[in-house]
Amino acid sequence: MYALGLQNNDIDKIEIVPLEERLPSKFIKIFECAIPEPNEDEVQIKILGAGLNYNSIWQSICHPLSPKSLIEGHVRRNGKDIHHLKDYYIFGSDGAGIISKVGKKVKTWKIGDHVVIHCNVIPTHEKNIDDMKSFSQSIWGYETNFGSFAEYTCVKYNQLLKKPTHLSWAEAGSYMLTLGTAYRMLASNNGAKIQKGENCLIWGGAGGLGSFAIQICKIIGAKSIAIVSNYEKENYCKSIGADFVINLSEFGSFQYLNKLEKPNYLFWKKFKNKINDKINGEIDIVFEHIGRDTMGFSIYVLKKGGRVVTCAASSGYLANIDLRYLWMDVKSLIGSHFANLQEAQTANELIINKTIKPVTSTVIKFDLIPIYLDKMYKRENIFGKIGVKF
Ligand code: NDP
Repeated sequence: MYALGLQNNDIDKIEIVPLEERLPSKFIKIFECAIPEPNEDEVQIKILGAGLNYNSIWQSICHPLSPKSLIEGHVRRNGKDIHHLKDYYIFGSDGAGIISKVGKKVKTWKIGDHVVIHCNVIPTHEKNIDDMKSFSQSIWGYETNFGSFAEYTCVKYNQLLKKPTHLSWAEAGSYMLTLGTAYRMLASNNGAKIQKGENCLIWGGAGGLGSFAIQICKIIGAKSIAIVSNYEKENYCKSIGADFVINLSEFGSFQYLNKLEKPNYLFWKKFKNKINDKINGEIDIVFEHIGRDTMGFSIYVLKKGGRVVTCAASSGYLANIDLRYLWMDVKSLIGSHFANLQEAQTANELIINKTIKPVTSTVIKFDLIPIYLDKMYKRENIFGKIGVKF
């Protein structure tokens, strides 16, 4: 079959290129490999739709870890998954398709079922323990092999969700990772538990996470304040229901950190005042995933007792924050990662009953994946999600 990702001999070549010169399309490629066969607790799926996510960018540029190290880590935690150690790495953590084979222990799904795959890999659910706290937990197509950028994949039986019948394959294959993540971050008891009437500041409002965060605020009755970098993204956020949009291009040069990488307090104060004036209120929750550049400000901008919920660090994972604004104003910083099975199922129901739209604004062919990953990395005008048609 055809698949897309990296091969073993690419890794050493990538790691000697300076990080700032690495770009997904320089390294990832299409190659041929064997169709994966399901273990007894797995199903094989013919992939008909997939979605692009930022984690394929991290894998392509081998930062902060190469796919080889990530998959070796998964196998150390999950000895039975040794078949994931190959001399190639297939990327892709969102996909949908038709079950083509089932392992002998799989009773809940059958050949021919139309499914959406969620990316949380755990061998079994432990009673009364959040799946995301399991020692064995990994992300499919990132920390495991056989992702969705291929003709076939194999996934655990407990990674499957019903495909919404009103969606195309490209739409069905592209929402789950970011929707599930945004749902846990905002709506779940494991996240910020946003309440009706609260104000939520959303970084990257037009991106994958942001466009679902805006919709989740709406259904809960919270106010969304989306941050974007240009007018096209501003219009997009308004079109999906953002209550306010902060367009960074209107604020001149942005300096969250000064030249010494220290907080730029003067700028923070001015920017916070502008946001509060615009919404005529204060921020209760910040939806964070930018990291290094913005985390210090995200804590500072909150009202007393507010919470920052974060799942990522696109601009860098070593952040410079001023802890005084955390403890003296009794604020909380909450870490979040994808979603457990129950959260993924609840989020999927919101798509099935059409409460949330899949926001797949671009559908591309398989061979364009590298180019579109570059566009995401360079913050070009991508709105919502990019789906892949097979
Ligand atoms: P997208 O590329 O779809 O959107 C990200 C948005 O963030 C962009 O539209 C851009 O908007 C904004 N952005 C990027 N860099 C900066 C910056 N330095 N300052 C301000 N804004 C910035 O990505 P996703 O929403 O899918 O993912 C975002 C991050 O979250 C990634 O790092 C990803 O790996 C991570 N993630 C983590 C998950 C988890 O489970 N832990 C799950 C899903 C994603 P604009 O140009 O308008 O500013």
